[in-house]
Amino acid sequence: MKMSKLFVQTLREFPSDAEVVSHKMLARAGYIRKLTSGVYNYLPLMWRVLKKVENIVREEMDAAGAQELLMPFVQPKELWEESGRWDAYGRELMRLKDRHDRIMCLGPTHEEIITAIARDGLKSYKQMPVNLYQIQSKFRDEVRPRYGLLRGREFIMKDAYSFDTSEEGLDKEYQNMAQAYKRIFNRCGLETKMVQSDSGAIGGSVSHEFMVITDTDAGENDVFYCECGYAANSNHAVSNLPEAVVDGKDYFNETKIVDTPETHSIEELSKFLNIPSTLILKSLVYIVDKKPVIALVRADKAVEETKLMNAAGGIDVRIASAAEIAELMTDHGFDAVPGFIGPKGMNDIQIIADETVRDMKNFVVGINQTDKHLVGANLTDLDIKELKYADIRLVESGELCPECGKPLKVTKGIEVGNIFKLGTKYSKPMNAVYLDKNGKSHPYIMGCYGIGISRTAAAAVEAHYDENGIKWPISIAPYHVVIVPVNIQDTLQMEVAEKMYEELKKAGVEVVLDDRDERAGVKFKDADLIGFPYRVTVGKTINEGLVEYKTRETGEIEKVTPETAVEHLIEIVKNIK
Ligand code: ATP
Ligand code: MG
Repeated sequence: MKMSKLFVQTLREFPSDAEVVSHKMLARAGYIRKLTSGVYNYLPLMWRVLKKVENIVREEMDAAGAQELLMPFVQPKELWEESGRWDAYGRELMRLKDRHDRIMCLGPTHEEIITAIARDGLKSYKQMPVNLYQIQSKFRDEVRPRYGLLRGREFIMKDAYSFDTSEEGLDKEYQNMAQAYKRIFNRCGLETKMVQSDSGAIGGSVSHEFMVITDTDAGENDVFYCECGYAANSNHAVSNLPEAVVDGKDYFNETKIVDTPETHSIEELSKFLNIPSTLILKSLVYIVDKKPVIALVRADKAVEETKLMNAAGGIDVRIASAAEIAELMTDHGFDAVPGFIGPKGMNDIQIIADETVRDMKNFVVGINQTDKHLVGANLTDLDIKELKYADIRLVESGELCPECGKPLKVTKGIEVGNIFKLGTKYSKPMNAVYLDKNGKSHPYIMGCYGIGISRTAAAAVEAHYDENGIKWPISIAPYHVVIVPVNIQDTLQMEVAEKMYEELKKAGVEVVLDDRDERAGVKFKDADLIGFPYRVTVGKTINEGLVEYKTRETGEIEKVTPETAVEHLIEIVKNIK
C-alpha cells in the first residue's frame, strides 16, 4: 500500500471528547471516526486490526473444536419472552417496531436465538457436546457509552454457546474455552488475568472474566487478587476481615436515644461518641429497579452495588438522591436528613443487611430523627419484620484472602472476555431439550463465552503506546512495516525504497511505502502515531549502502543494508504466532 493512497487522515490534536489513551490515539491516528454516541466507523486501518483480532479468535475457536455460524442481528421479542429476559434485561436492550407493529430488538447477546436453533436441530445426546460461535456486531444501549471502542453501544463481539448433556461435560468445555481464551489474548499481545465475576444479565452460576490489567482510567473494574492465585472482580470478591470491636458493651450500658448534633458522617459520629466506627450500623438508601431498598452494613465498610442489586433481586441499582430520601422519610412520617436514617419503622420496604451486621451488638444506629442516634442498640430493638442477610460488602485491599489468609491487593482491569456456566438457565424456560439414550428428555446444560473484539483491539492500545502514538503488537498491527524514503525526489532513495517494497510485498509482509512529498519529520510522526511495528528509512546513508531499521516497541535503531532489512522482516513475519 502506498501511503499517498491509504485512506487515513491523522489529526493534529486528540479529539476533545476522548478521555482515555486508546480513544485518543485511535481517533487521532485515523483508525476510527465517531458517527454518533457510542457508535464508530471503523476506517481501513481499524478494520485491518479488527480482522486480525477476529482471525486469531477464529483460529483458536476452531482449533478448540467450536463451529462458526452467523445469527441475525435483529431478534423477535417472542423469544426473549420465552426466556423471561424481555422484562429482565432493562434499558440496554434496544427495542424497535417493524411496519407491522411487530416488536423486535437489536441483539446485545444471543442466548435466546442459539437456544432456539438448538431446540430445532439438536435433539439427541449423540449430537453433543457441541459449541457454536459467531463474530458479529452487537448493540447495547449503554447508560454511559464512553472511552471510544472500549465501551461503545455498537461493538463487535465473538459469542460462543456450548451444549452438553452433563455438568461434567460443561466443566470440561468451560476449561477448554478458558485455555483457548488465554491463547487468544496472548496472541493479541495481551497479558490477562482470569478472575471470578458476577454473572450479570447473562445469568448462570459460575463465571470468569479475562482482565487486561492497567493503571489507567480505562480500567473500569477493580480486581482483587492474591499471590496464591485468588482473583475476583470487586462485584464478586470476598474477604476475611481482621478482628474488630463489634460489641459496644464497654461503651454503652443501656439502650437509649442520645443527641448527636451535626454528625452527618460516620467519622463525625464516631468522633462525637468516641467509639470505633465498627460499632456503628450504617443505613444507606438505594434505588433498585425504581424501588427504595435499605442496605445495612458495618460502618467501617462500604456497600458493593452489584452485590446489593443481586441480593435485592433487581437488574438496576443506584444510590438514592437527597430528594428521594426526603420523600421516603415524609412517606413514613419522619423528617430525618441523611446521616440519621435507620431501618426502624421502614418495614414496607426491603431491608438487606450485610454479613458484617450479624455479629454486631450494643451498637449505634440512626432512628430517622435528625441529630439523634440510638446507642447500645441491638437488632431486636429495631422491630425489623423481615431482614435479609447477604454479602453486600465491598472488599478493600489489605483485607484477607478468602483462600490463603494473606492480604489482598487491588488493581484495575479492562474486561476483554467473559465465560459463563449457564446450566439450564435458558434451556429450561425455553423448553429446549434432547433425548437421552433411554428416550427421556432433558434440557441442555449450556455455557456461553464472549470476547469483545473491538474492545480487545482498544485494550491492546491501552497496553502498548508511548507519548508519540501506538505500538501495535505485530500480530494485530494493521501493517507490519512502513518504508520511508526521506526525499522522494532522490532517485536512488526511491529506487531502493520501491525495490524493498516490492520484495516485501511478494514475501507476504504487509508493507506501506510512504511516498508522500512531505518532510521526513512529518512522515516519522505519522509512522509513530499509526504505530507500525517497524520503520525502514531510506535516507542519505543509502550512498554507503545502508538504511535505518527502527523497532517501534523499543525505539532501537540499527543501520543495515536493504537486503538485511528485508530478510529480518520476512523472518519476523514468518514467526508471528
Ligand atoms: P461490561 O461489564 O464491561 O459492561 P459485560 O460484562 O456486560 O461488559 P458481556 O456480556 O460479558 O459484557 O460481553 C462479552 C464481552 O463483550 C465483554 O467481555 C467485553 O469484552 C465485550 N463488551 C461488552 N460490552 C461492551 C461494550 N459496551 N463495548 C465494547 N465491548 C463490550
Ligand atoms: Mg461480562
